[in-house]
Amino acid sequence: MYELQQKSETAVFTKGCPVCDGRMSDQVFDYINMVYESQKSKELFDPLKIYVCQNCGFGLSYPYLEDRALIDFYQNQYRSGEGSHALQLPHPSKDSKYGIRASAQWTLARMFLRDEGAKRILDIGTGAGDALLAAREIFPGAELYAVEADSSCWGTLEQSSINLYKMGFTPDTAKGIREKFDLVLFSHILEHYNARDLDKILTALKNLLTEEGVCVIEVPLTDLMQFHAERVYDAPHLSFFTVSALRQLLSKQFEIIFCRGCGPKYIDVALHMKAHHQKTRETIMYKSNSRLEYIKRTVKNILRRTPFLKNLVDVRKKLVEPTYYDLIKGAYYSYGEDRDFIRAVVRKK
Ligand SMILES: [Zn+2]
Repeated sequence: MYELQQKSETAVFTKGCPVCDGRMSDQVFDYINMVYESQKSKELFDPLKIYVCQNCGFGLSYPYLEDRALIDFYQNQYRSGEGSHALQLPHPSKDSKYGIRASAQWTLARMFLRDEGAKRILDIGTGAGDALLAAREIFPGAELYAVEADSSCWGTLEQSSINLYKMGFTPDTAKGIREKFDLVLFSHILEHYNARDLDKILTALKNLLTEEGVCVIEVPLTDLMQFHAERVYDAPHLSFFTVSALRQLLSKQFEIIFCRGCGPKYIDVALHMKAHHQKTRETIMYKSNSRLEYIKRTVKNILRRTPFLKNLVDVRKKLVEPTYYDLIKGAYYSYGEDRDFIRAVVRKK
């Protein structure tokens, strides 16, 4: 269905839209790799161009990346000192501590579960498992499972008594998952695959669900026809979704129960990122390297291990802790048009 043509040493995508078979626009966009600056990452992302469907707005990067190169990237570079992962969250520590995004996803999905709730829950690409820790509070007693390729996260996950599949998620590796799940979270994962693989990935995902199980799928909203000039970065994403494109893709295999824009307005985030991304990047690089940050971490560890001091810290924390309303009034619980991402809940047809 797809082919690679060499034109003046540039690979050109010449087929119809993999989502809707619509015609691809003649306008081709340069691929923006803002963060991944190692030689290896540059070789991976620099040759890419982005092609957009005139009908559904779906965008794809091309040439497609080799599976082997992608696995290497997620095992070794994605969460490394290149620092992009933290860049994507405006308040990483607050978000991970309270699991705000995950709590919003779990509580949305819970509306569509059968009466008994979720007995077995899976988070694919869980990182350090923040989403599953939130799930443990919301679904007490549920068995928790994770798929994670990055070995630097495994120790934390095992300490949290999370059942762990130590692998990337591909149609092949998914066959090794023996359980079926009442609830699966696939949050900000789908955009990391080559467009040619999306149908196969979603089939693998569908096969993990129990008959009445539900899956939350969340992706960034990237409307290239409307906002290509405002967007800040593309790497490491390979597929780019509008609400229409995500709906059409999911409806091939799933019943869509819910699918809407979510989070802050796209344009607000883009403008904020444009203004601050360089500063943020410098902060991350500074934090991972500086001696002062090392001393801060050491002091924090001593405080945690000394009961009297820990009590004092806990009292202080209670005084400055955000309220329930502070958490739920935030963007992760807000839905509408032209938002920063798209949240969908699906079940088997
Ligand atoms: Zn299309």
